[in-house]
Amino acid sequence: MKTWPEVTLPAIPGTGRPLRVHDTASDALVTIEGSDGVARLYVCGITPYDATHLGHAATYVTFDLINRAMRDSGLQVRYVQNVTDVDDPLLERAARDNRDWRELAGAEIGLFREDMTALGVLPPDELVGVVESIDEIAQAVRQLVAAGAAYDLPNDGLDSGDIYLDLTRLDEFNDVSGFSRDQMMEVIVDRGGDPDRPGKRDPLDPLLWRAERAGEPAWHVDGLPAGRPGWHIECTAIARDHLGLPIDIQGGGVDLVFPHHDMSATQACAVGEHFARAFVHQAMVGLHGEKMSKSKGNLVLVSRLRADGVDPMAIRLLLLAQRYDTPWDYTDDLLEAATARLATWRAALSVNEAPDSAPVIAAVRDALADNLDTPAALAAVDAWASAVAADAAGMPHAPGILARTLDALLGVRV
Ligand code: ZN
Repeated sequence: MKTWPEVTLPAIPGTGRPLRVHDTASDALVTIEGSDGVARLYVCGITPYDATHLGHAATYVTFDLINRAMRDSGLQVRYVQNVTDVDDPLLERAARDNRDWRELAGAEIGLFREDMTALGVLPPDELVGVVESIDEIAQAVRQLVAAGAAYDLPNDGLDSGDIYLDLTRLDEFNDVSGFSRDQMMEVIVDRGGDPDRPGKRDPLDPLLWRAERAGEPAWHVDGLPAGRPGWHIECTAIARDHLGLPIDIQGGGVDLVFPHHDMSATQACAVGEHFARAFVHQAMVGLHGEKMSKSKGNLVLVSRLRADGVDPMAIRLLLLAQRYDTPWDYTDDLLEAATARLATWRAALSVNEAPDSAPVIAAVRDALADNLDTPAALAAVDAWASAVAADAAGMPHAPGILARTLDALLGVRV
């Protein structure tokens, strides 16, 4: 499907160090080296039934920084993001609001594109919807069936019903989360699982293909009952078909670690493929001590902030002021501080004479390559801006190259 407009990256001299990021699966820092000069990035995208909140924005800005840092280290980046444009939450919301599910999805995808554009996020090379990928997802399901890694559960007495991955038959579980069985069982229902369905071989077996139900969309494909894909298999199939496996980074919010990333990687394993070299996750963004979530209704929406006149670059600086791998809570004070920082940077970067910016450019580059230490990058720019404010006269450096660096590496346009 259509992605959002391309962003021109300013050229800056030199090359950054290879990016090191935290890999959830090994719980260690790994260096992203790519293969043949190319890094393959796959980030799990939205289910388009509601507007982008700050937790989503944090995720997509984090992977935008990863994209920029990998490019700065000399790699080409191939970036694919999916859109879960048919799934239970979308259909439930559409039914609740008496809207056509396609129309609801289209409207929310449009708003998401606007939010990403405003935040200066580089578009993925391909934004891939489930609806346009039914054939390739069905092919992945058929492959698991043929490998003896799936089974069929009757649907309303019909012989050919819902198809599940058979965890009991697999040689290997691609363990990204490191969760114990108890931890898995604790969260599985909240995260789209159905452990209590009678007949399942393992309560954790994920749905690969859901047979047609009255009033629900369904597709007719060879070798499967009329129906629609399960959630995890879409990412297994789309990542494989659009990037090739293994990808370098599988990304998303921390709530996707289990079951989504465990299962999508395990499904690749089941047909003999290694899914990803690193699994990177954005920590939870909360409000008043609670996870920001649609079900709790405590959302800070990017579109709402923009409508209220907040500069999108201030929203970006608000996100960059926090480490991606550490949970944090949104407050209005943090947004005020980000707005003030943006004004300070703008004033400092508009002078004609300033201290040499080479050391701060190096500091920003190093901080970013060092597991996205954005607070350290911002602190380096703050210190430079303070020096400008203290005494700019007589320092013969124009700050244009620093402005271009902040644009290219941090995505902050001043
Ligand atoms: Zn996914």
